[in-house]
Amino acid sequence: MTVNVNHVIRYLRESERGEAELIDDAELNLMLDPYRKTYPLPYKCSRERCNTTIAYWALHSTGARIEPGPERRQTGLVFPDLEWEQRFEEPIDWAMNGDGVISLETNPEVGSGWPLRWRFTCPRCNSQYVHTNKEMLRLFLHTLYARREKIRPGTIR
Ligand SMILES: [Zn+2]
Repeated sequence: MTVNVNHVIRYLRESERGEAELIDDAELNLMLDPYRKTYPLPYKCSRERCNTTIAYWALHSTGARIEPGPERRQTGLVFPDLEWEQRFEEPIDWAMNGDGVISLETNPEVGSGWPLRWRFTCPRCNSQYVHTNKEMLRLFLHTLYARREKIRPGTIR
């Protein structure tokens, strides 16, 4: 079953599920399946004249969540490696390793980084962007819908 990406965006917008529930939403995950193998998209700083690539985003292989990574993997291996079941741990490790461009941001609703809420810091101009997982899914899907190859924060609301 392949549904139009705009349908998935609408489903996300209209869903009243919380962040944690959304990650395991069976209907949403089914709709995301055709898009999981999308090549990781560069996430760009949207500050004028900066335009630096901050991270790369990919869809998780089973859950309704975005996995950010610091770099695009080398040829032959899609990031995150879609054959590797434990790959989700990897971006978490990166985020936990302190002062990188990607870190887990505390969620005021739960007092921790869970459900996922990420902070991205531009390595060039230090602009900071914080996104919930749901916002990241919407940004990722909007980028696909617009047939763009780069994700820019602030392009949707
Ligand atoms: Zn920047």
